[in-house]
Amino acid sequence: MERFEQASSIIRILKQRGYEAYFVGGSVRDYLINRPIGDIDIATSALPDEVMKIFPRHVPVGLEHGTVIVLDEDVAYEVTTFRTESGYEDFRRPSEVAFVRSLTEDLQRRDFTMNAIAMTEEGEILDPFGGRRAIQNKQIETVGNPHERFQEDALRMMRGVRFVSVLGFTLSEATKQAIAEHAPLLRHIAIERIAAEFEKLLLGRYVQQALPLLKETKLYEYLPYLEKKQNELIQASVYEWAYVTTDTEAWALLLYIVKINDAETVLRSWKLSNKKIKSITAVLNFLKKRHMQDWDELLLYEAGEEIAVMAETLYAILNCKHVHTQRVKKQYQSLPIHNRKQLQVTGTDLLQWTEKKGGPWVAALLEEIERAVLYRKTANSRESIKEWLNTCKLL
Ligand code: ATP
Ligand code: MG
Repeated sequence: MERFEQASSIIRILKQRGYEAYFVGGSVRDYLINRPIGDIDIATSALPDEVMKIFPRHVPVGLEHGTVIVLDEDVAYEVTTFRTESGYEDFRRPSEVAFVRSLTEDLQRRDFTMNAIAMTEEGEILDPFGGRRAIQNKQIETVGNPHERFQEDALRMMRGVRFVSVLGFTLSEATKQAIAEHAPLLRHIAIERIAAEFEKLLLGRYVQQALPLLKETKLYEYLPYLEKKQNELIQASVYEWAYVTTDTEAWALLLYIVKINDAETVLRSWKLSNKKIKSITAVLNFLKKRHMQDWDELLLYEAGEEIAVMAETLYAILNCKHVHTQRVKKQYQSLPIHNRKQLQVTGTDLLQWTEKKGGPWVAALLEEIERAVLYRKTANSRESIKEWLNTCKLL
C-alpha cells in the first residue's frame, strides 16, 4: 500500500485538473493477490499532451499509444490515456488507437480479467469484468471472447501461459481451448516479444506447471528449436526449477534438458543479446566439464565465479541434489590469482631472463606459470617463479 500512497499524488494532481485517473494493470492485480508489486501503471482520461503539460518532468515514451512516463522524486510511473484499440492487423498490433474518455472502455481492451481491474487512490476497486472473482478462483480468463482476443493479438497466448508460471493460476477451460486452437498465430509475433514472455515463464515460481501447458496448448510448436521437443519439455518440468534465479541459468537449464547441441545457433534465432548468449553458452560449457570432474583451481579460474556458481547450481539441479554454491564461492575466492594480470611475471621478464627471441613460446610458458601458481607449485612472486622455472629447467 505504501507504494500506492506514494503514487497517489500523481492521481490527485490529475483529478484536481478535472481528469479521471486510476491505478491499473499488474500492480492492482498483484496487490489483490498479495504478492510484491512491480511497476505502478496509471490510466487517465487526460490526453498525452495534457499529461505532459501537467507534469513537466516526463519522458514521452509511447505517445502514439498514449503513454507518458511521469517522474516523481526518483520513481517513474507509466501514465497512459484511456484508449481502445481496433483494426488489428496481422494478429499483432492494432492499426488504430483511439483515445477515449471512459475507464471501462480502456479496461475492456486489456488481455485478462485479472489485469483489467482499476483502483482509485482511496483503494476502491472498479472491476467491470469480474477480475476479482477470477483472482479468487485463481483463473486466467480473457476479457471477452478468447478466440477474438487471441486473434487480435497472438502474444496474449504466451502471456497467458507466462502468468500460469508466475502466479500459479490455471487457464480457464475456454481460454485454454482457444489457445490450443490459435497457437499457429504465434508465427506472426516478433520473436523478441515471444522471448521476453518465455523468459518470464522460465523464471516463474510455477514453471513446472507451465511447461506441460506449452505442450498441451501446442504453443511449443511455434517456439524456435523447441517445435519437436514436446517430450523433453515434459521431462524438464520434473526438475527443481526453484533454485534457478537468473535468466542465464534458466536458458542454460532448458537447453541442456531438451538436448540442444548448438546452443549459440538456437539462441541467435531467439534473438537474445550477444552478452546473454555468451554467458549462457559459457554456463553450458562449464556444466559439461563439471559432469566430468569436480571443481579444481584451474576449472574455477577459467570459469570465473559467476559462471562457476551458475554451472554448479544447474549441476545440482540435474542430479537432484541440494544446491550449495557456498563451497564453490569460497574455493574461488581462495584462488592464488583470479586473472592473468595478477601474475607477478610478464612476458618481458621471461625475455630478459632467457635472453631468447620472442615467439609463441612466451605465451605458452606464461600459461604454464599461471597453472603452477594456481596449483600452488610456486608462490606468485618473481623470485619464487624464477626459482621454480630454474628447478624445472624451463628457463
Ligand atoms: P508484470 O507484473 O509482469 O509487469 P503486467 O500485467 O503489469 O505484468 P505488462 O506487460 O506490464 O504486464 O502490461 C501492463 C498491463 O497492460 C497489463 O496488466 C494488461 O492490462 C495490459 N496489457 C499488456 N499487454 C497486453 C496485451 N498484449 N493485450 C492486452 N492488454 C495488455
Ligand atoms: Mg507491468
